[in-house]
Amino acid sequence: NAARSEQIWLDGKLIKWDEGQVHVMTHALHYGLGVFEGIRAYRTHDGRLAVFRLREHIERLFDSAHICMMKLPYTVEQLMEACLELLRKQKDQFANGAYLRPIAFMGDGAMGLGAINPTRVAVTAWDWGAYLGDKGIREGIRAKVSSFTRMHVNVNMVRGKISGQYVNSILAKREAVLAGYDEAILLDISGFVAEASGENIFLVNKKGIIKTPPLSSPILDGITRDTVLKILRDSGRSVDEVTVTRDALYIANEVFFTGTAAEITPVREVDNRTVGAGKPGPITQYVQETYFRTVRGQEPRYIEWLTYV
Ligand code: PMP
Repeated sequence: NAARSEQIWLDGKLIKWDEGQVHVMTHALHYGLGVFEGIRAYRTHDGRLAVFRLREHIERLFDSAHICMMKLPYTVEQLMEACLELLRKQKDQFANGAYLRPIAFMGDGAMGLGAINPTRVAVTAWDWGAYLGDKGIREGIRAKVSSFTRMHVNVNMVRGKISGQYVNSILAKREAVLAGYDEAILLDISGFVAEASGENIFLVNKKGIIKTPPLSSPILDGITRDTVLKILRDSGRSVDEVTVTRDALYIANEVFFTGTAAEITPVREVDNRTVGAGKPGPITQYVQETYFRTVRGQEPRYIEWLTYV
């Protein structure tokens, strides 16, 4: 990594990066009971550092923990402050912004599925460039519908960002990358488009109608998805949150992914079918430009989404 925080916030204290270690008997390591967030801080146009939608991310972390019946020994405000404190200490180091990773997990103590051990909480930060590459952001990426299915809503707790659930995403991602694609698109158990391994998905059809799978499908309630819905609707465009078939992606004019890590990534190909003109279309470009202006503090109407460090 180009830059990483010199310190880690662990259980209420700032420690050195190298000391951020846990025991191999950590319960979450064995069974996956952890909840986490991915948050970005951007260098704004005036040179300051600002965290994008910090409260919403920390609130989702608490929701994820609540779903898992994990008690977090902190308040939302305390964890927001932990993120800010970490960045404040090394503001100048993160010239290109920072990616923040709060994680809460069941620590060591008892083993077995019935164990209830104290929850540990950590926040780390590092410099993470474009998740699907700079070229991906500019020119679009190639995606493949996965042979792995997004889990059923009564298997996967879809409102939670839960560590163990990511094995499903990793299987899909690796399969796609090994087959020469950049990203995997997962279908739900009925065969409808859900989301990518770590991003939500939007399409623009030939009539110019913008669509994204609804929250009743097994998708994460993405904060970038929500941001994009607001950006599009505020611009006078409507977006249908409706069931999407995989062939609707093939014949779409535009497809793009949204996510904190992936930001707004155009999709130029799905299952070897060129999407639209095979390059980022006008709606995708509008969303991308507005999104980047927003996170960099250049859109006054969305300034309340930024927390300056
Ligand atoms: N879906 C999944 C499975 C994800 O892991 C993510 C990344 N958190 C997203 C969607 C996008 O969510 P967000 O926009 O909140 O980062």
